[in-house]
Amino acid sequence: MSNPLQILVTGATGRTGSLVVQKLQALPKQFSVKCFGRSPQKATEIFGSTENFYFGSILETQALETAIVGCDALVILTSATPQMKAPSQTGQRPEFAFPDGEMPEQIDYQGQLNQINAAKKAGVQHIVLIGSMGGTDENHFLNTLGNGNILIWKRKAEQYLVDSGIDYTIVRAGGLLNEKGGKRELVVSKNDVLLKNTPDGITTGIPRADVAEVVVQALLEPNARNKAFDVVTKPESQATVTNNFSALFAQTQPGL
Ligand code: NAP
Repeated sequence: MSNPLQILVTGATGRTGSLVVQKLQALPKQFSVKCFGRSPQKATEIFGSTENFYFGSILETQALETAIVGCDALVILTSATPQMKAPSQTGQRPEFAFPDGEMPEQIDYQGQLNQINAAKKAGVQHIVLIGSMGGTDENHFLNTLGNGNILIWKRKAEQYLVDSGIDYTIVRAGGLLNEKGGKRELVVSKNDVLLKNTPDGITTGIPRADVAEVVVQALLEPNARNKAFDVVTKPESQATVTNNFSALFAQTQPGL
């Protein structure tokens, strides 16, 4: 029997990253998991210990290079996160800002490039990158938050990954939901077609747990290699629950 695949998950204390870690840890014959995070306290709160954790910022090349040694695959689940500022007057719309040093250009572009470069140096064979739908529309409202142009920077990093020569799977999720996974039919597409013209019977959302399952399956299924795709769901009530991920990935296309 072959050895388990050694995986590094970054953003491991994030809302989707932590679900990916738990799913990978539940399959010890297939996967051995290392986690990259920046808060030992948060890691302990979520996982009960900091075992298998490497701590640092994705802006620190050395920290990434140390964590990634010996890995077969990298799962990138880091992201800049806009913080809501309290409105100065009642009735005003809330404003958003990114913490100092954590603008999307730094986190979603430079931070992702740092991870891809560290992976290349370490001979990693496959990178699964979680991105976001909406990146073909520079006027998307998410780009206005904190003047961050977050979707534009994410998309530039995706192009860098496609051009890196490492096998890639780019999963561009629709709006993330904190709901149970494994209850919906997943629908894949590309380049925001489903946002521009959403067919009846399809939502533009997807539970984080379903995204985490897509990541796990992408690490296992050859059909997911060198593909980039959008993924949303049908509502739970209309579900023919997706369980054939090889068939799902066969519907996806290579290139950005
Ligand atoms: P999340 O909970 O916001 O997690 C982001 C992670 O990035 C956190 O673990 C954070 O660390 C980590 N991080 C940020 N800066 C870092 C740094 N300098 N060094 C190391 N780690 C750093 O993510 P999510 O909501 O699950 O989203 C997962 C992905 O899906 C993101 O790329 C997101 O943009 C994308 N997406 C989101 C939506 C949505 O509806 N929200 C829709 C589509 C796609 P800490 O845990 O220490 O904070």
